[in-house]
Amino acid sequence: MTDLIARRIRQDVQSMHAYAIQDSRGLIKLDAMENPHTLPPELRRQLGERLAELALNRYPGDRVNDLRRALAAHAGMPDGFDIMLGNGSDELISLLAMACDVPGASILAPLPGFVMYGMSAQLQGLKFIGVDLTPDFELDERAMLAAIEQHRPSVVYLAYPNNPTANLWDDAVIERIVTAAPGLVVIDEAYQPFAGRSYIDRVAKHPHVLLMRTMSKFGLAGVRIGYMMGPRQLIAEVDKVRPPYNISVLNCEAALFALAHQDEFARQAEDIRRQRQVIQAVLAAMPQVKAWPSDANMILVRVPDAAKAFDGMKSRGVLVKNVSKMHPLLANCLRLTVGTAGENERMLAALQASL
Ligand code: PMP
Repeated sequence: MTDLIARRIRQDVQSMHAYAIQDSRGLIKLDAMENPHTLPPELRRQLGERLAELALNRYPGDRVNDLRRALAAHAGMPDGFDIMLGNGSDELISLLAMACDVPGASILAPLPGFVMYGMSAQLQGLKFIGVDLTPDFELDERAMLAAIEQHRPSVVYLAYPNNPTANLWDDAVIERIVTAAPGLVVIDEAYQPFAGRSYIDRVAKHPHVLLMRTMSKFGLAGVRIGYMMGPRQLIAEVDKVRPPYNISVLNCEAALFALAHQDEFARQAEDIRRQRQVIQAVLAAMPQVKAWPSDANMILVRVPDAAKAFDGMKSRGVLVKNVSKMHPLLANCLRLTVGTAGENERMLAALQASL
């Protein structure tokens, strides 16, 4: 077997680590920016009835187009744009790398940032250019513009807000980066339900900008629906690399159901934003913890010893994410997902006891 792997599996894949999903059984799960709320029982019953009626013997069909239309309306997609769906935005990120011009093409993103941008590049044999943020986690405009000039990347990703730093970027800096980029720019608005601003009103000004969103943080992380909007002709090209039936009948129907009840999800997002403030107020009173402002459903904190705090919190039943090894700028940092009021109280008590 080792011989077979050595001869037939790509060398760079052999040296990769699989995307790590932490075991969360029995723990309060605050590690992956999931919405902590489920649907009220009556809506769950209705959803169950809808799903039970589906023809699972058939491939997904026109309902996927209904979902594309519903998401476009939900997002306020500009005229002349089209929308492409992915099995989570993770899949869209992979597909975009697949559609890039090779050889020699590159993908550029600020670091620390979402790991899939680099991973998608590597898996497609593209170069990944990571540009460090400033120590206070702002875009380093000069370094970004210099790297864009030097590498002429096929795609620049700007997560807005960013993961794991949870902040939005200065709009004027974004504009200058967008203007300088010779290839595509993707504004990844995965955390849009918790942010005060969106790029949606500006996206149509630039024919090379795509806007990516997901239903995951909205409240459907388990359903796996991501979407990307952009000029019709451009989306038509990228859409050619999409596997034909990437949105399952079950995912599609659950997403349509959720959009028909989007007021409920909007209330949940409002609660999460309120809870974020409550957590920030408690963190501000912990002298050993530095917490950064957040425009997302996560809060980045620096503690004296992240490994100790992470283990201590876990032993007290709370799972967060230790991001300190991700990047030198994140030394001793933990990423806390905002949960329900009760979960957050337990999380904060566990953090305080584990410092
Ligand atoms: N973009 C960003 C910035 C993210 O943080 C994440 C998930 N953590 C994603 C995209 C992917 O989301 P999904 O595949 O669930 O749509």
